[in-house]
Amino acid sequence: MTNKIIPMLADKRIALVAHDNKKRDLLEWAKFNRDLLAHHKVYATGTTGAILERELQFKIEKLQSGPIGGDQQVGAKIVDGKIDFLIFFWDPLEPQPHDPDVKALLRMAVVWNIPIACNRATADFMISSPLMDDVYERLVPDYDEYRNRPLDMNEG
Ligand code: PGA
Repeated sequence: MTNKIIPMLADKRIALVAHDNKKRDLLEWAKFNRDLLAHHKVYATGTTGAILERELQFKIEKLQSGPIGGDQQVGAKIVDGKIDFLIFFWDPLEPQPHDPDVKALLRMAVVWNIPIACNRATADFMISSPLMDDVYERLVPDYDEYRNRPLDMNEG
């Protein structure tokens, strides 16, 4: 499949999501990186967003809480080209009622070639990358080949 370039601007649209046992981790990380984060547009699932907004003191675009649709809203924004960066601290030790949504969100991030950090070390490397404050030419597969795939619609 060939690729298309979808530019990511210098001011990124970043989504932050953390499962309950990982919220403290995300908050500590976000506090440490507050000033770096503040000049990007930050989205978050409901509860994560409320905690971060209170602690960081800048505006966060809060979606629904994850288990009642927030993860799907983040995924849909990725598909619509409205989010271009995902920090998602999911909990590897606790089953989640919305596990299919978690999987779907991670899948959409890969389908659209969005950077994803699922733990603090990765988030540290990503936020300190020189690419963070520059335009980045994101390569996305040209899905027209998939959309126009031949289908055998003959009956019988
Ligand atoms: P929350 O959702 O920020 O509303 O807790 C997180 C999640 O479970 O996806």
